[in-house]
Amino acid sequence: MSLSGKIAVVTGGSRGIGRAICQRLAALGATVIVNYVSNPAAAEETVQSIQSAGGKTEAIQFNVAVAEEIEQAFKQILEAHGRVDILVNNAGITRDGLLMKMKEEQWDEVLNTNLKGVFLCTKAVSRAMMKQRWGRIINITSVVGFAGNAGQANYAAAKAGIIGFTKSVARELASRGITVNGVAPGYIITDMTRDLSEEVTNTIKNEIPMGVLGEAEDIAGAVAYLASDEARYVTGQFIHVNGGMFM
Ligand code: NDP
Repeated sequence: MSLSGKIAVVTGGSRGIGRAICQRLAALGATVIVNYVSNPAAAEETVQSIQSAGGKTEAIQFNVAVAEEIEQAFKQILEAHGRVDILVNNAGITRDGLLMKMKEEQWDEVLNTNLKGVFLCTKAVSRAMMKQRWGRIINITSVVGFAGNAGQANYAAAKAGIIGFTKSVARELASRGITVNGVAPGYIITDMTRDLSEEVTNTIKNEIPMGVLGEAEDIAGAVAYLASDEARYVTGQFIHVNGGMFM
């Protein structure tokens, strides 16, 4: 697989799964634009790790929940690089709580970042990709979007929303040479899951046939495949990377 000459944008590329995706796409030859919102030091670490491995990359700050920031950022990226070939909508947050106690702000924050952000970034690249008649859009959903999870009604709703969005946009853009797919991680060791108590982690492990949590690199592999020419006839699909937790 080679992504040589491709320009890739990865939202939330500063840490966790997004960082591993950036590193993998860059290792395959893509120029990777690493997005972050509030953690320039982490974004710089991603950039440094790619550059020291000989890859091409730069960081860009924008909030995926804010339309004006996205418009401005993609204008800047298109001016500098002339194209965007691969968009990975990875940025995401959790604001967990049981329904009875969930505040409207918790709902809005998660839906705005995890679902509206995917809509806004996809819209921002779609015109350029249509002109190129080539594009790869890869949306990171979650096992929780398929199976639900107590305490995560907001997060599950956003992740399930990504599933319907991905299939609809895949239908709209298929004839233009653009594929739109998703990857649904199970439980992956990142900042998002690091603070779970030992008890919760053990309960989760018991639900995973492979018996261990996944690593960010496991998700990066699936994304790299969907971004490549090997996946040219695959659209509107989801790759589940979860150790067998959900089948
Ligand atoms: P992390 O918490 O480790 O990293 C989140 C990333 O998203 C950071 O790079 C952060 O940037 C960025 N981000 C957050 N909000 C915004 C925003 N408004 N605009 C731009 N960037 C933003 O998360 P993970 O790596 O664990 O998760 C990545 C994706 O995978 C998410 O969509 C998550 O829902 C999904 N996922 C994760 C699972 C897991 O077990 N870890 C399981 C299933 C799905 P900054 O560094 O600037 O804060």
